[in-house]
Amino acid sequence: MPQIIEEPDLIRCEHAKRKGWPSTFRLGSHICVNCDRVRCEFHPPRAKPVICIPQEQPEVIQSSAVTRVEPIFKPKTQVSPKDLTPEEVLENFPSPTLRPYQKDIVVSVVEAFQSGKKCVILAAPTGFGKSYVNAAFTSVTRSFYATPQLALIDQIMRDPYVRSRFVKIRGRRNYQCFLQPDRRVHVGKCITEDYPCKERFDVCPYWRQKMAALNAPSVLTSLAYLISEGQTEGSESYLGTRTLLVLDEAHNLEEQCLNHVSVRVNPFSIPHEVFNQILPELLETHTDADVRSLLESIEARLNMMLERCEKIAQTTGLSTIQAEDLERTRHYLANYQLYKKSKSEWVWQVKNDELLVQPVFGKEFMRDLVWKRGEYYIISSATILDPDEFAESTGLLNFLKADEISFLTVPSTFPVENRPIIDATVGPLSAQYLATNMPKAIRAVEEILRKEKGNVAIHCHSYQHQRNLLDGISEDLKPRVIVHTSRNREEKLNEWMRSRGKVFVSVAFNEGQDWKYDLCDAQILLKVPFPDLGDMRVKKRLELGKRGWYDNRAMLEVIQAYGRAIRAEDDTARFYIVDGSFTRLIHNSWNTTPNWFKEALPASLRRSRPEIDLRHTQTFMPPNEQT
Ligand code: SF4
Repeated sequence: MPQIIEEPDLIRCEHAKRKGWPSTFRLGSHICVNCDRVRCEFHPPRAKPVICIPQEQPEVIQSSAVTRVEPIFKPKTQVSPKDLTPEEVLENFPSPTLRPYQKDIVVSVVEAFQSGKKCVILAAPTGFGKSYVNAAFTSVTRSFYATPQLALIDQIMRDPYVRSRFVKIRGRRNYQCFLQPDRRVHVGKCITEDYPCKERFDVCPYWRQKMAALNAPSVLTSLAYLISEGQTEGSESYLGTRTLLVLDEAHNLEEQCLNHVSVRVNPFSIPHEVFNQILPELLETHTDADVRSLLESIEARLNMMLERCEKIAQTTGLSTIQAEDLERTRHYLANYQLYKKSKSEWVWQVKNDELLVQPVFGKEFMRDLVWKRGEYYIISSATILDPDEFAESTGLLNFLKADEISFLTVPSTFPVENRPIIDATVGPLSAQYLATNMPKAIRAVEEILRKEKGNVAIHCHSYQHQRNLLDGISEDLKPRVIVHTSRNREEKLNEWMRSRGKVFVSVAFNEGQDWKYDLCDAQILLKVPFPDLGDMRVKKRLELGKRGWYDNRAMLEVIQAYGRAIRAEDDTARFYIVDGSFTRLIHNSWNTTPNWFKEALPASLRRSRPEIDLRHTQTFMPPNEQT
C-alpha cells in the first residue's frame, strides 16, 4: 500500500516501485494514470484518475529512479507581459528580499512591455541576481527559460527559491530507455528496432518529462535543446511556442546558432564509414566547385546509408553505434538542406582533415531556431556590449522594429577596490610581435607569480601561447604550475581548484567558471582573445568592414574572464593584463564597454578615454557614479 515518504504531501507505491514503474504520487491523487494503465491492483479501482506524474515529476534519468517529486510552483496569475504590473511580478519574486537595483529593473522591464516593447535586453553583471529577476517574470507568464550554460541550469535546480518554478527538460541522451535500460533514449528500442512504443508517455522517462514540460507554466532548458527541439515543429511532441522566452547568458547567441547550422564534414559529424570513403576527395578540395561536388557525393552516400539503416531497424535491429550514426546523419542532412536553401553567403575551409561550411551571418536562421518560440523576450547577460549590433546580428531586427527593443544596464554592486585591473602590459602579443614581446610577457608573468602566493589562473587564449609560456617560464615557478591539454581539461581544472597556491595555465576557461573566494586570488590575461583570423567567417566579416564586431567579441571575452574570480560583494581578486593589444582594444571599444568594468581600470589604461556614448543606455546608476 502507499507509504509516506520524506515530503509530507507525497506518497510512494511500493508495489509500483518493485515493478519498476513510476511510483511516487501527490497525496490526494487517488490513482495515477500511469498505474491505472498498467493495472496496479493496489490502488482502489473506483478512485478518480488524475494525471499526476506528467505534471509533477522532476526530470528522471533512470526510470527506476523515480523517488522524489518537486512541487511545482503555482503562480497566482499567468498573463501576457504587456498586461503585467510591477506588483504582480514583485509578488512572485523568488526571494523574500531584493538586492540593489532588482526592483528598479523589474519596474523598468514591466514599463517596457507596457509601452509596446517586445524585447528587453538586460546587461547585468555578476551579483545583480538576474536569474531571480528572470524567474519572477517566467513565474507570471507562460514561458521558456533557456541558457547555453548547463552549470546555470544545475544552479537554478539546486536553488530552493526557484527550482519549484520550472520543469526542466534535457536532450534524449540524458534519459534511460525504460524497455532497454542499458540504453539511452536517443538509441532506445523505438530507434534501433523501429518499435512504435505506444506506452512511451507512461513509462519512458524522456517522454514523461516532455509531457510534464508541455503542461508546465515554465520550462527550463538548454539553448541547444530549445534549438533542436524546435526542429520537431509539426510533430505531436513539439513543445510549441510560449508567451515569454527568457534567454540567460545569451551573449554568444549568434555563434551558438551558427554552430548548430554549419555543415561539418569530419569523423564525428558523419558515419566513419562514409567519412573514410570521401576522405581522399576532401583532401583534394580546393575550389567552390570541389566543395559542391564533395557535398553532393556525401549526400548521396548518406541517403543510401539511411535506407540501409531503416531496413536493418525493421529486421534485425540496429546496434547502438548504428543508431548514433543514424542520428548524426539526419542532423548533417538537415543542415545540408539549410545550406542548399539559404539565401545568405556561406564560406568554407578545409583544416585538419575537416571541411567546415558555415554562414557568414546567422540572422537568416535565428527566427526559426530561436525567436519563433516566444512572443516577448528577455535577453540577459553581463556582456551584451552593443545592443544594436546584437539585435542586428541575431536577426531580431528582421521581425521587430528598433523601437520595440529596450536595453537596460545595471552597475556592479561589487566594490571596485575588491576587483582591480592591473596594468602589466608589455606590448602587443599579436602574431607579428610575438617573438619580440613574448619573452617580456613571460618575465611579467613571473613577476606577478612571485607576488601572488594564492591560486592564480592564467588565460592563454591558445595552446600555442600556453606552450610558449611554459617553455620560457623560470624553473623555480614550474612546481606551482598546473597545465591542461584538450583531453584533460576538467580533471586539471578540478586539481587546481582543490589546491592552494597553484597556477592554472588555461586555454578557453574564460566563461562559465565560478572561481569564488580563495579558489582564485588573481587572474592574468596573457593574451587578448581576439577572434581567430584563420577562420574564414571572421576573415569575411572583416572584409565586409565589421571591425566593431571583431573588437566587441574580444572585449566580451576579456570581461567574461575578468568576472570568473569575483563572485560576491566580499570576494576579492586582482586581474592583471599583460597583452599590450588591450590598450588599443579598450580605446576602440570604450563606448560599448560597461561602466563597472571601466571603473576598475587603472589610469594608465584609460589614458585616451573618449566620452561615453549613452545613446542606447538606460542606466540605473546613482548620480555620483555616472561617468
Ligand atoms: S520511447 Fe523509446 S526510449 Fe522511451 S521507453 Fe519507449 S522504446 Fe525506450
